[in-house]
Formats: sequence, structure tokens, C-alpha cells
Amino acid sequence: MYRIGEGFDLHRLEAGRRLRIGCVDVPAPFGSVAHSDGDVLAHAIVDALLGAIGEGDIGRHFSPDDPKWKGADSRVFLSEAARRVAARGGRIANIDSTVILEAPRLAPHVPSMRAELASALGCEPTAVSVKAKSAEGVGTVGEGAAVEARAVVLVWLPEPR
Ligand code: MG
Repeated sequence: MYRIGEGFDLHRLEAGRRLRIGCVDVPAPFGSVAHSDGDVLAHAIVDALLGAIGEGDIGRHFSPDDPKWKGADSRVFLSEAARRVAARGGRIANIDSTVILEAPRLAPHVPSMRAELASALGCEPTAVSVKAKSAEGVGTVGEGAAVEARAVVLVWLPEPR
């Protein structure tokens, strides 16, 4: 049977931080405020995967209060979410996602993001879609104070016996 999962994440942006999106370091004078590497797209995808298999959310598995995850590479979270899908005998059919950031333009980085995310998840880059938009100057994201990501995944799971 196919199961759908939805994920959302938002991080505040601050000068002098690292801007890591979709397992790619994006050159910018600011980056995500976060306990881990602040990869908003990876976090949205992890939440979508965990949601699809009914196993909670990223905070339940990787608590932001746990010093173990300080500065953690979000590839670890992606790999663990994919491992949980595989442990159920499932596989990722496809992932669609959107990152909303006012600047810089992410389009040049999208092919690398797809490749890096797919590698962390153990699936084909063609199964991972990444779209980038700006917020047209509207709201917190439009003012450049935050970055946002949304993800939808389709997971195939064997029928429960
Ligand atoms: Mg996050």
C-alpha cells in the first residue's frame, strides 16, 4: 500500500551562520539558527518520511535538547528516516519539496541538492524533486528573516499481515 507523508520546517536566519539547504552549503552572509546544521529542507523531508510510516517527528527521534545533535549533519537524520522505512519493508516512491527563501537564488544549487539528498536517503535523484521559490517580499520569509521548506513523500509499504 502507498502511504503519504507531509513535512514542514522553518528556521530563523542570522548573519554569520551557515546556510545549509538540502545537504548543500549555499554561499550567503547569513544562515539558519539551529541546534543541528539547520538544514530546513532535510528536516522537512525527515518529518514527511516519519509521518508516512506513522513514527512521529524529527524532534522525537533527534531531540534538540540532546547535546549529541549539536551541529549534527542532517544527513544522519535523513539516513535514519530512510532506514526506518526500509526496516518496515518499505521503499520511497518519490519526494516532492519546496524551499522558500528570499535570497540568494537557489536554482543553481538544486541539482546538487537532489543528488545529495538522494545519496543520504539511498534512492535515485530522479525520485527527489526540489523546487525553490521566493516569498515576493511578503511576510517573515519575504523580509529575509527566515527560510521555510515543505515536503511531501510517497512511501510504499507492504500490506500489514
Ligand atoms: Mg529544523
